[in-house]
Amino acid sequence: MPTEDLDLHHMAQTQFDRAVPFVHPLDGWRGVAEWLFIPEQTIRVSIPVVLDDGYVHTFIGYRVLHSNVRGPGKGGFRFHPQVDESEVKALATWMTWKTALADIPFGGAKGGVACDPKKLSEREKRQITRRYIASLGDNLGPHTDIPAPDLYTDAQTMAWVYDTYSMMHPGQNNLPTVTGKPLDLGGSEGRAAATAQGLFYVFERLLSVGALGELGPMEGLETSVQGFGSAGRNAARIFAAAGARIVAVSDSRGGVHDPDGLDLAEVEAHKDKTGSVVDLPGTAPLGPKKVLEVPCDVLIPAALELQITTDNAARVQARVVVEAANGPITPEADDILTERGVVVVPDILSASGGVVVSYFEWVQNLANEHWPEAEVQERLKEKMTQAADSVTAALAEMADRLDDYRADWSEARPQAPPIPRPTLRTAAHAAAVRRCRSAVEQRGVWP
Ligand code: NAD
Repeated sequence: MPTEDLDLHHMAQTQFDRAVPFVHPLDGWRGVAEWLFIPEQTIRVSIPVVLDDGYVHTFIGYRVLHSNVRGPGKGGFRFHPQVDESEVKALATWMTWKTALADIPFGGAKGGVACDPKKLSEREKRQITRRYIASLGDNLGPHTDIPAPDLYTDAQTMAWVYDTYSMMHPGQNNLPTVTGKPLDLGGSEGRAAATAQGLFYVFERLLSVGALGELGPMEGLETSVQGFGSAGRNAARIFAAAGARIVAVSDSRGGVHDPDGLDLAEVEAHKDKTGSVVDLPGTAPLGPKKVLEVPCDVLIPAALELQITTDNAARVQARVVVEAANGPITPEADDILTERGVVVVPDILSASGGVVVSYFEWVQNLANEHWPEAEVQERLKEKMTQAADSVTAALAEMADRLDDYRADWSEARPQAPPIPRPTLRTAAHAAAVRRCRSAVEQRGVWP
């Protein structure tokens, strides 16, 4: 069996290619598809930093603006040893589809610095952030490209971004340059838990319209969560508060399992005290990836990309997988899950709550306003529900007209393999790409 391609940008391309046959009209479309997929700008910067031991280490950072056809670039930046150009390009591409699907006036961007945040002091992380943001200069800005938190970056990191940008651009309102800031620095209510809260609103909607197979009701749904940071910890909290039973959680060091349900307050206290969920008394230990394989109704991967591959897809026992992380499932693994009847709610839909509240933060900053939490939640729920509905509507339309799409496609591309039956992921990508295509059609090709 050929080895699976684990290049993240290739994965984004495969997902895009699967959606293209559903984006009509095809006339002249091929060139536009290429245009929509190729990132607009890729920046690579070197970041020399004096480490605490006096050594000058040069880190490498990236910022990719994938598309600004629907508005300025928007996307987080991360600190992680695996950061490379392909990863950042893929993440930026997914941001374009996310913002389009959520129908917020942004394009897609993403950034990252290749470093091991666990080995860095607070001062070293601050130096990296300041130098990285200074090097990107005017490639960032409230109407150009607006960063936000991601893996191992948080509100504190965004405060440093704001401070750096402000020192370089005195005398103007710089708050809308970066989102995910602390509340005292123009941050929005609800931003910290927004990704998980948005995921829950999507889940609730899909459950209520019967898009998650036989699943339901919420009460007692056995739920397993991989990753216990901003996205995963909040998802576990919100699902537990809604009546779900959290049976397993994990972080980078390992996981814990209790089929009768974990006491989440105890898990959180243990994580806060020891730095990890592992070794919580009264629970069974799990390897970091084994959390993906426990018997459960709902699995929420909320850690890293490429977690469910051809290696373990057949062992996933959940009935529904809701992606909080970006790109946790490879296309081949997606196919295996689909064949086995596992419904996958795709990242560009379920993990977009963070960028939606980031958009609210940007709007508040531009208007010098601060909205109450209830208003943020109401607007978030509305946006997430609309996004979920646009995906189920697209899927229904694509499934209904599948024979037409297949006929058109085989006429236009006689050599192409037949179009597989669409999934929620294909529908989400098609709905997002249709919006971007419509924007480029209306704008035209400059000059
Ligand atoms: P975070 O840094 O707050 O938390 C990451 C968590 O993942 C930590 O608990 C860490 O221990 C765990 N982890 C790391 N490596 C692991 C491994 N190999 N196995 C199991 N757990 C591991 O990051 P976050 O913001 O929660 O991001 C998590 C995922 O969600 C990422 O894919 C990110 O791109 C995605 N996401 C985040 C946001 C956001 O607003 N923060 C928005 C959309 C998507």
